[in-house]
Amino acid sequence: MFYLFNTFTQMKILLNKTSLTKSLEPFNDIGFVPTMGSIHKGHLSLINKSNQVCNKTIVSIFVNPKQFNNKKDFKTYPKNMKKDLQLLNKTKQVDFIYIPKFKDIFNNNKKPKIKINKKDKILCAKFRKGHFEGVLDVMERLTNIVKPNKIFMGEKDFQQLFLVKKFLKNKYGTEIIGCKTIREKNKVALSSRNYLLSEENLALASVIIRKLINLKKNIKLKKNKNRYLKTVKNELEKKFNINIEYLELRNIYNLKLSSVINKSRLFVAYYLNGVRLIDNL
Ligand code: AMP
Repeated sequence: MFYLFNTFTQMKILLNKTSLTKSLEPFNDIGFVPTMGSIHKGHLSLINKSNQVCNKTIVSIFVNPKQFNNKKDFKTYPKNMKKDLQLLNKTKQVDFIYIPKFKDIFNNNKKPKIKINKKDKILCAKFRKGHFEGVLDVMERLTNIVKPNKIFMGEKDFQQLFLVKKFLKNKYGTEIIGCKTIREKNKVALSSRNYLLSEENLALASVIIRKLINLKKNIKLKKNKNRYLKTVKNELEKKFNINIEYLELRNIYNLKLSSVINKSRLFVAYYLNGVRLIDNL
């Protein structure tokens, strides 16, 4: 695969933090897009945004084992470095790609364990024990290595964006820019995990997301919205033979359960054929 590196004229590939520090030193307006690879149009939209507002854009590709609460999920997480590099090169919007090894990020740097507040143990934090602790840990380490001016993250992972914003802003003052969710024509949100789904599964995901889009519209009229959502959750589970972890309406500024549509989103996590999908509308 490394033979490919020479064919990329636009992007510089950085395999460790020493070469990263050296390469980024001359620049002071750096936009950072952290990813776990299996690049899709959602990632590309973040890169595009970074390119619009920053002088240089760096993308990282690192599947962080510490944020997986399930070994099998980590093992089966889709990886395709060659295709990723080709896609990123084609954009002509990426200046640097950081592809670190585990040791480059986690080496010798012992730091206090990150704890999530009790009130934040909702949605994915409730169902994926240790997940956000792993996310915040790697985001802090990456921020220390890359030292970006701005970090671009997707609203697709709304709770992740919410927690990283809170955590990094307080500690480092780094600006975190949330970018809107990119969807397929069939309304399914782009996700690396979609690569694990069959055509049939994807068609079903499309049916489910359309139902949820309608639900978001109809829920306006319901008095006790979260009670109504519990009923709908049970109905959808039976109808589509899926396991829904949560289907909740929450305020976008504090993620508290909401009884109004205004400034709220419908959050969902469910399993389709063993693959965990999340979305928010
Ligand atoms: P991941 O590679 O899944 O860790 O995602 C890397 C970044 O891309 C995160 O900030 C995600 O929120 C963002 N992202 C993933 N899917 C989408 C999407 N469909 N639209 C916009 N951003 C996305």
